[in-house]
Amino acid sequence: MKKHNFSAGPSILPKSVIEQSARGVLEINNSNLSLLEISHRSKDFIEIMDKARTLALDLLNLQNKGYKALFLQGGASMQFLMTAYNLLENKAGYINTGEWSTKAIKEAKNFGEVIEIASSIDKNFNYIPKKYELVEDLDYLHITTNNTIFGTQFHNFPDTESNLICDMSSDIFSRDIDFSNFSLIYAGAQKNMGPAGTTLVIIKEDILGKVSRVIPSMLDYKVHIDKESMFNTPPVFAVYTSMLTLEWLKNNGGIKSIEYKNIQKAKLLYDEIDSNELFVGFANKEDRSFMNVTFNLKDENHKEQFDKLCLEANISGVNGHRSVGGYRASIYNALDISSVKVLIEVMNELKRKI
Ligand SMILES: *Cc1c(COP(=O)(O)O)cnc(C)c1O
Repeated sequence: MKKHNFSAGPSILPKSVIEQSARGVLEINNSNLSLLEISHRSKDFIEIMDKARTLALDLLNLQNKGYKALFLQGGASMQFLMTAYNLLENKAGYINTGEWSTKAIKEAKNFGEVIEIASSIDKNFNYIPKKYELVEDLDYLHITTNNTIFGTQFHNFPDTESNLICDMSSDIFSRDIDFSNFSLIYAGAQKNMGPAGTTLVIIKEDILGKVSRVIPSMLDYKVHIDKESMFNTPPVFAVYTSMLTLEWLKNNGGIKSIEYKNIQKAKLLYDEIDSNELFVGFANKEDRSFMNVTFNLKDENHKEQFDKLCLEANISGVNGHRSVGGYRASIYNALDISSVKVLIEVMNELKRKI
């Protein structure tokens, strides 16, 4: 029976994409060969890589604006250090909005001065800081646009002259914003784009080449750009499946259309959290994430009963992260609104039973 998959990551992908991807593993392009056993230098794979890179820039409306798209390895966690390695010469600013930002800050400190411009750690990261003074002459300012664990999201971006760099792992391709405000965007594929194993990096080329240190080839964005994201063997399965998801998104009306659906889903669920007296939302209302909805039971004694109802309704992956507790419903692009309605129905059923 169909599962309602609210997993935070790796997470739900469109069913049609999984099916197409599975067919590609069996045979790619009527070649009698699996995607997994052809050369990454073959015409079949080069086409896939080119298409994935083009679709990414197209969907973000960044074609012909000086940006390049790369599919790299090492996860978003590798980007915590690669961004600093390639771009931090003197000092960089970071806004600390959760565990992932904290990890990015730790890595950057290996390469230069790191200024924590603002932090929401005082309230266990349940909000996005808004009042802070920006520092001049930063090599860049780094933010995490959506905080997967805590369920907060930037709805306005810092007004800065510095290069804005962001970890967009859990909300890339989910909303229609001006992506040209960012000089570099990175996102692990496994939240909203594809399977684990590749990380999309969108980079404005002219920000590179400004640091004096020697950069090892594998960590050098310029090398990956020059080699068209094929410096070494790319993760072919992850790139192929990501390409299929991007194609699915484009064929379904692109970002504007998915944003509309994402807003509807989030609104329904937050309305239920606010109106059902058994539950309370975790994140500050104005900073609520449209991708990861964090909430708690007011009375922990109802946990067993709620978990049982979720299980019976085929709801999967709603347990909160250990640092927040409670529940987290991740409602990424591929999750249909009907699954959100099932969760809401279960929340209502709990209310009726108590
Ligand atoms: C999941 C996640 C990461 C970590 O990604 P990996 O690919 O596992 O390194 C980093 N940042 C954010 C915002 C995430 O959601």
